[in-house]
Amino acid sequence: MDDRRLKSHVLVVEDEKAIAAFVQAALEREGLAVRVARSGEAALTQIEAERPDLILLDLMLPGLDGFEVCRRVRAQKPYIPIIMLTARAEDTDKIVGLELGADDYITKPFNVRELAARVRALLRLLRQASGGASTHFFRAGDLTVDRDRHVTAIGGRPIDLTPKEFDLLATLVAERGRVFGREMLLERVWGYDYMGESRTVDVHIQRLRQKIEADPANPRYLLTVRGLGYKFAAEEDL
Ligand code: CA
Repeated sequence: MDDRRLKSHVLVVEDEKAIAAFVQAALEREGLAVRVARSGEAALTQIEAERPDLILLDLMLPGLDGFEVCRRVRAQKPYIPIIMLTARAEDTDKIVGLELGADDYITKPFNVRELAARVRALLRLLRQASGGASTHFFRAGDLTVDRDRHVTAIGGRPIDLTPKEFDLLATLVAERGRVFGREMLLERVWGYDYMGESRTVDVHIQRLRQKIEADPANPRYLLTVRGLGYKFAAEEDL
């Protein structure tokens, strides 16, 4: 996801130490960077802080269980693939039937090579999707962003954006709900070599708000996350 990161990052959410260590070792042998969360609550915190590329999520966890973690991640960060780990075959019916949004599931006891193969397959899909046509058109509320035609519209009425304003908006809306720091936005939109300062981002956000928000002082779409940066409002924020 993040161009600077050479390795894909996987978060393993598993309360059983032995299984977590075993899975971590197996995925590290695959060249992946692996972090472990031991509870659902810890997982949500780590997902926010570490922004994994993929989540391996055990169903049976103390406190917030895997179903609840999956539901929350899907609402906030729909772009992160989730593989559910289940102990019982009947749970897989629930995962599929409830359409929780897990991308795949694997039943314990599992073959670690099969697990690694599933992880690799999903990460490959993710890379294809991020360069594919499906990510070129976004709709949020009455706002649409069409990357191919380079057109932004509110309620079907096109609005004039400069190229940088457009890129900034497209970057945020492509991963709506994700918080971007100013430095990351500078890199993504202005490029690694850009010598500007993070204030540049603030100025462009202000201008975008003037153009797309009904009330720029109380933005609905382009939200400030105090101390962290900016995000495009997640679906449930609207
Ligand atoms: Ca467990």
